[in-house]
Amino acid sequence: MRRIFLFVAAMGLASAATLIATCTARAQQPQDFSKVEIKITKVSGSVYMLQGSGGNIAASLGDDGIFLVDTEYAPLAPKIQAALAGAGITNKPVRFVVDTHFHADHSNGNAAFAAAGATILANENLRKRLEEGSTIGNGPGGSISVKQPPQPKEALPIVTYGDGVNIFLNGEKIEVQHMPAAHTDGDSVVFFSTSKVLHMGDIFVRYGFPFIDVNDGGSVQGMIAACDKALAEFPPDTQVIPGHGALATMDELRAYDQMLKDTTAAVQKALMDGKTLAQMKEEKVLAPWQKYSGTFVNSDAFLEELFNSLVARKGKEKVLGETEAAGKPFTCS
Ligand SMILES: [Zn+2]
Repeated sequence: MRRIFLFVAAMGLASAATLIATCTARAQQPQDFSKVEIKITKVSGSVYMLQGSGGNIAASLGDDGIFLVDTEYAPLAPKIQAALAGAGITNKPVRFVVDTHFHADHSNGNAAFAAAGATILANENLRKRLEEGSTIGNGPGGSISVKQPPQPKEALPIVTYGDGVNIFLNGEKIEVQHMPAAHTDGDSVVFFSTSKVLHMGDIFVRYGFPFIDVNDGGSVQGMIAACDKALAEFPPDTQVIPGHGALATMDELRAYDQMLKDTTAAVQKALMDGKTLAQMKEEKVLAPWQKYSGTFVNSDAFLEELFNSLVARKGKEKVLGETEAAGKPFTCS
């Protein structure tokens, strides 16, 4: 999820009224998808990156057919198909799609690709979120809150996994790994092992402070754990496709991971000093990271994400101990 107006467009104007009041101030004009162009860029080996509107797509193109990571918005599916064909590598269809998470700007095209013959795969939590719909947001009292309606069965993954799945296609092993309690509770990252390309979904974004969907089981602890795991497991010359923004290096992923750790430590310290969320906002505890503050996730919204990741609210606020907070992913259930 990047911008609220993308959701407005995806949901249609009628249901846009369901946006919660705090969000409407951020909402902009619905997007005209007829104006969106899909840019396709070769990354390495068989892997390409597609950028249009919504999350970045990774595609493996080859003799075995096409494998996609994420699908952007349904109205863009014909343009995405045209861009894939235009690469001139294969005229075979999209056989498999993996969703990195359930937000509409990454999964709204599912039904269109399924109708064209693709098999959709995802973590089991993602399927549940898509099927049931959700109020996406950055936790109790948070300033970001957007409804995503339940999706029809045509849009749902027909193959689900827990920890992950491997797919052998176009001469390489494609490793799909579930990352628990990160951007949501249904995230996956995808590593193309011969091409050495990694798609991180919205666990890694380049528009500034990331959005963490605490309402759907996301947590900053899980975001950090996922980045740490990717940095430890995959080669240093891996090219990284973020959920949004330009292609990155592992060093850029490492710098982002460090920012998550440093900001989390600052909020953890303020919590241990007995500060409330309001006091932390007043004292601008994230001031040293101001350059990451954006229009979608500004410093206060990110502070809410960190605070709600670190604090479990069960009846009354309970502050997790340092060890507990550092090692244990927060869940909303
Ligand atoms: Zn998202």
